Amino acid sequence: MKISIAKNAGFCMGVQRAVNIALDASNNTKEPLYTFGPLIHNPQVLEMLKNKGILSLQKIPEKGKGTVLIRAHGVPLNEHELLEKVGFNVINATCPRVISVQKIIKKHGKAGYETIIIGDRNHPEVKGLLGYVSKNGYTVSSLKEFKNLPKFEKAVVVAQTTQDTSLFNQIKKNTQNNYPKYKIFNTICDSTEKRQKEVREISEKNDVIIVIGGKQSGNTRRLAQIAASTGKSCFHIENISELDFKKISFKDSLAITAGASTPNWIINEAYGKIKTFFQKNNNLFYSFVLQTRDFLLKTNILLSLGAGCLTYACSRMQGFEHNLPYVFLAMFYILSMQIINNLFTIKSDKYNNPKRAYFYEKNKKILRICAGISGLGGLYITFHLSIFSFFIFMAMSILGFSYNLKFFSFFKIKRRIKDISGSKTIFIAGAWGIITSVLPFLLHQSSIFNFQFLNLKPQTLMDFISVSPFLLFSRQTLAMVSVFVFSTGLVFSRTIFFDILEMQGNRITGKETLAILIGEKKSLKIIKQVLILIFLVCFLSASIGIIQKTGFVLAFLPVLMLFLIIYTEKNNLFSGMYLYFIIELHFIIAGIMAVIF
Ligand code: SF4
Repeated sequence: MKISIAKNAGFCMGVQRAVNIALDASNNTKEPLYTFGPLIHNPQVLEMLKNKGILSLQKIPEKGKGTVLIRAHGVPLNEHELLEKVGFNVINATCPRVISVQKIIKKHGKAGYETIIIGDRNHPEVKGLLGYVSKNGYTVSSLKEFKNLPKFEKAVVVAQTTQDTSLFNQIKKNTQNNYPKYKIFNTICDSTEKRQKEVREISEKNDVIIVIGGKQSGNTRRLAQIAASTGKSCFHIENISELDFKKISFKDSLAITAGASTPNWIINEAYGKIKTFFQKNNNLFYSFVLQTRDFLLKTNILLSLGAGCLTYACSRMQGFEHNLPYVFLAMFYILSMQIINNLFTIKSDKYNNPKRAYFYEKNKKILRICAGISGLGGLYITFHLSIFSFFIFMAMSILGFSYNLKFFSFFKIKRRIKDISGSKTIFIAGAWGIITSVLPFLLHQSSIFNFQFLNLKPQTLMDFISVSPFLLFSRQTLAMVSVFVFSTGLVFSRTIFFDILEMQGNRITGKETLAILIGEKKSLKIIKQVLILIFLVCFLSASIGIIQKTGFVLAFLPVLMLFLIIYTEKNNLFSGMYLYFIIELHFIIAGIMAVIF
């Protein structure tokens, strides 16, 4: 079974913006927070907002306290003004595209135009638009209704932003032929047009179309109508629990699309469950391969192997032999830290990666033990290598563990390191850089110069002091810096990319990742720049002999990651086990390259 997700499925710009404004307001205020009417038409999102303490205000009270968010569809102007008048702080989350329709109506109303809105008169957006009409406002939902309107001297015709384009085109043609003095504006949002066009295309190419979204959502219902009109099997569901799997089991291809108010986590969950259903029914070998992949990802064994491979590649680029202790050290550290981190992020994973959240919730005890054993394994190795590395490893482990703990409550400013905005990405990249390139460098240097001081023997401290200026400018140090940039940059790019995929869930749980802080577009731009930079650093360092020739081949790894990220960006940015797997695989590829070349 071929399963795909439509490129334009899920939150449109306006809905994403409204939800972000609501979540940011809730994370930053202790005052009562309301939305005026439902923020968007999706029951799961409304439930999530309710759980965050954001309640829906149905009527404007005589006196108000707190903040009210105006929904993406907008409200009539008099209601907006009244909310402020009774004492609410009003945040306008109306979609900018709806605001431009409001402006057209207002401007033409002042100039004496009648207003005709093509749309559903009961839809909140249309009710809101009618509130901007100065003269008379009329709503039509068919060509017949339009023809039945009185003939005005001058009128402005606009459309509800989620209207079907075919009705708009019919009315436009009629207006041009019969009412040349009418002004008609195509105010249908291109997001709606794209979505409707795409659903027609995917319906032609697939046997089954699953449309996910609220049953009250007009644009979702329209998508389902379009898909059904092509004659293909179409199921409109609010979430995956509503799907009857028996009805799709004998089909060859399936496409998932979703309305503008459907969050990614609902789409991801549906995609994951459908995929798992077909995996189970697939041939045994394929099913085994996929289940092994998921297991390696969920347990972080794949990431740990990746850390080992990357360390091996970094050590080879620095020209070190006998790399195995460094490799195991990195594997133990990353495994223990990543398991601990995942145990702390179960809540946000319920939105970002439901499979992982379920796995961690179910196996909390055993995973804690694994993290502990792994950490102890790392300490054991470092203890036998040198006391110095033992303390570095210990310090890094304490820092990694305390990252999620309420460590700094004493200062009453930031309670956890995690609370420092954007710290996660930098912290992870830095820790990987140290464990994969700096620690092996220090351990290697200590063995070359026999720095017994590293074992805290004072007589050899002088040895270190006497050679340290030389070390600072040595080729070996420059090699370590190049390799550190390579490793840190690769992990930084991978982590910020995952942050982008997990933005919705992170916002809900109030996590301020770097991607949330600087936005998706800037984050993607930074990833590309970092990957190009590390390609150049690696390639040039290998060219002038700072690092070993292996660097030439490994320089292409960031290029590979860059292509994958561009490809994903061009298609869709939905997270899924396959995407996590391919990205994590880059570190394993680094190790394989280092072994071969
Ligand atoms: S569908 Fe278009 S107009 Fe409506 S909220 Fe989304 S972006 Fe805005």
